[in-house]
Amino acid sequence: MSAEFTARPHLQLVQGTPPAAIEVKQLSVRYRNVTALDAVTTSFQPGRLTGVIGPNGAGKSTLIKAMLGLTAAAAGTVSRAGQPLVLQRQQIAYVPQRSQIDWLYPATVWDVVLMGRVQKTGWFRRFSAVSRRKALAALERVGMAEFRDRSIGQLSGGQQQRVFLARSLAQEAEIFCFDEPFVGVDQKTETILFEIFQALAKAGKTVIVVNHDLGESIANFDDLVLLNRSVIAAGPRRQVLNADNLQAAYGGQVNFYAA
Ligand code: ADP
Ligand code: MG
Repeated sequence: MSAEFTARPHLQLVQGTPPAAIEVKQLSVRYRNVTALDAVTTSFQPGRLTGVIGPNGAGKSTLIKAMLGLTAAAAGTVSRAGQPLVLQRQQIAYVPQRSQIDWLYPATVWDVVLMGRVQKTGWFRRFSAVSRRKALAALERVGMAEFRDRSIGQLSGGQQQRVFLARSLAQEAEIFCFDEPFVGVDQKTETILFEIFQALAKAGKTVIVVNHDLGESIANFDDLVLLNRSVIAAGPRRQVLNADNLQAAYGGQVNFYAA
């Protein structure tokens, strides 16, 4: 942290918040008669690739949506650097679960990636040369530049997921949230996604990835949050991945890759 931040902490948000963990405290979410999250307390560290894992219906998507203020919480707080996370939305890139995206949306790949620049540009304003350059660089980084004029609905699941990753890269966020990005994608895409997630973490970003798969790809994560309505375990991957924790989260028999 620079001396300036120490001397003038009130300027932090204006000047760009220095890396700080996301702190989730006693977060509860209820849908009518379902308690989806029950007093969830955990944190997400900058510079770490964190997986949110747990069985179907564990509340993984709900956790992300409640953290971002897209789903109302019944109780609890989510903060970063002492400020509510919802006030830092400009610094968050979010790619929802695939089923929640409108795949008939009549947009080209280029339109979708440029949307990542809207916050920096403003609606109804022309995208600057800088924005166009950054959008193109993001598309190149995910290996989709030659598809820029295709309509998004014509792409395979893996290609679509890479375009949405490109949009989030173009956004130049500090915090990245991806909900089940590996579902229905090819091996090439999975490799590209993990490479970029790890590079983002290495660059000091906070990278949160919901992933219900306990296969060998789990070894790519630095930290894990094992969820089943409440937090079963959270922390460094090796610490979280043990038979007792998995039994508590999944019940019965579960096979996992002992990474
Ligand atoms: P996961 O992402 O881990 O599969 P979700 O967060 O989607 O779990 O769901 C957690 C629980 O909340 C499940 O029981 C699910 O059926 C329920 N749920 C999720 N969204 C809604 C909603 N909009 N209305 C009612 N119940 C919901
Ligand atoms: Mg989900």
